[in-house]
Amino acid sequence: MLGAMQDWDLKVTHLIDHAAREHGTREIVTYWADGSETRTNWAGIRRDALKMTQALRAAGIGKGDRIATLAMNHSRHLVTWYGAVGVGGILHTINPRLFEDQLEYIANHAEDRVLLYDAAFQPIIDKMKPHWNTIEHYICFDSGDHSPSFEDWIAAYDDDTEWAEVDERDPCMLCYTSGTTGNPKGVLYEHRSTMLHAVLGIQPASFDFDARSVMLPVVPMFHAASWGLPWAGAATGVKFVYSAVNEPTVLCELMKREGVTHSAGVPTVWLSIFQHCDATGEPLPKLQQAIIGGSAAPRFMIERLMKNGARVAHAWGMTETSPIGTVGAPTHNWDELSFDEQVDIVTRQGQPIFGVELRTVDLDDFTRELPRDGKTSGALQIRGPWVIKRYFKAEEDATTPDGWFDTGDVGVIWPNGTLQLTDRTKDVIKSGGEWISSVELENAAVGHPAIAEAAAIGMPHPKWDERPVLFVVKKEGQDVSASEVKDYLSDHVAKWWLPDAVEFVDDIPHTATGKISKKDLRARFADYTLEA
Ligand code: ADP
Repeated sequence: MLGAMQDWDLKVTHLIDHAAREHGTREIVTYWADGSETRTNWAGIRRDALKMTQALRAAGIGKGDRIATLAMNHSRHLVTWYGAVGVGGILHTINPRLFEDQLEYIANHAEDRVLLYDAAFQPIIDKMKPHWNTIEHYICFDSGDHSPSFEDWIAAYDDDTEWAEVDERDPCMLCYTSGTTGNPKGVLYEHRSTMLHAVLGIQPASFDFDARSVMLPVVPMFHAASWGLPWAGAATGVKFVYSAVNEPTVLCELMKREGVTHSAGVPTVWLSIFQHCDATGEPLPKLQQAIIGGSAAPRFMIERLMKNGARVAHAWGMTETSPIGTVGAPTHNWDELSFDEQVDIVTRQGQPIFGVELRTVDLDDFTRELPRDGKTSGALQIRGPWVIKRYFKAEEDATTPDGWFDTGDVGVIWPNGTLQLTDRTKDVIKSGGEWISSVELENAAVGHPAIAEAAAIGMPHPKWDERPVLFVVKKEGQDVSASEVKDYLSDHVAKWWLPDAVEFVDDIPHTATGKISKKDLRARFADYTLEA
């Protein structure tokens, strides 16, 4: 027997229809790279997205075709998200910070047919064009000498058209992981998974925004589906404030001038805002909600934002999970906790949002499920309707035989369900049969006032298998010795975790998404040896 309710497929075009109908006049502001500013609204975004579908159809682009972008955050990029899916296509957001071989691989592997790009990335286009085999149409988001420019391209069409007919299980977006090991891998989101992630995963319990909110997403539209914000923002009718430049001066100014209540970015973004405010004496912008994810938010950052009156949502996820998996939201006894206890909770990575399930399994056999006791760390696995089943064009599923995706992260689950990430499976250090968290060592080290950045890696050791070595970048104008670092650490971690050596370096290598690249650090110190 079938149920007796209406058919209403979970298609992402419903989101923009809703935003235009119910929140049509809500503004979308863009601060452009040349310092100019434009304002449109949700109705305008929908109108332009419809025009874009006509332009795409006229170019012979339709269902299932990959439409790529190489662009910062702005309103035309937002139009493209909806225009690409509206024609039944698959939006492929490319990270301009990827290395050349990755850029070549990704666009060819995706078989992109159209590329929309910012003029600022023209040098990348010029260099890569001979290597990209499938791109037929290049359209520049900026006007000027660039032809065709996005505005001219869509201006030739009207909005008197319909979105393409799609099934809710059809794909709508393709994002590649940055490939810290091997080639990047594509994650192919569906209309249904995207919609469920946008409405269940993001609002309101986790990121806590509504139609009154003003959101400045610093997380780029090319990074992990911009954490789902372009979709969730439409469901909610937020005012978006976009900045095509990531300068803290501009971000702080926009936050104040546009009445921003919510912002989302990786820890380095928040750090740059702090540094800007400290250097200029400007007060930190007042926010209701600060969303931090992508890598662990340090305690001092959470504390400072909370003291400034913001609720902090510390989120964990990955491209493979659409990306939101857990968010640190107030627990049921929140109001009874002291400020420090609240900060402790937010410093962990939060609880699974409704729709996903988490478990940890033994790091040696990857099958035995571990207790949620707040101390036993294991390989973190996840399942749910917006979690990957199979990478794009892969022959085999990426899940375990019982249907879980192994995240490559290592963590502890507390009895109240809070996740605390401790490492990556590849980075955790095995010493004498016990596990040492490289991340906890690093987090402890950066608490030292003279340390700017730290990375711990396991070095082969004749007796203990591996022992930690800590690589440290000092803050400018500051000094500290190896023994002072060890003394400082001994107050924060177990004695047997203390690094066997502390090495001072000028810089630590990073990935295209700004995370420490342990792979490159290991390569740099391939000949390093520790004595017994
Ligand atoms: P990329 O590897 O391309 O940067 P992702 O954004 O998908 O792509 O990276 C996901 C990984 O980032 C996670 O598996 C985890 O290791 C790390 N990560 C994400 N959020 C957090 C967080 N809040 N705390 C610690 N690590 C995080």
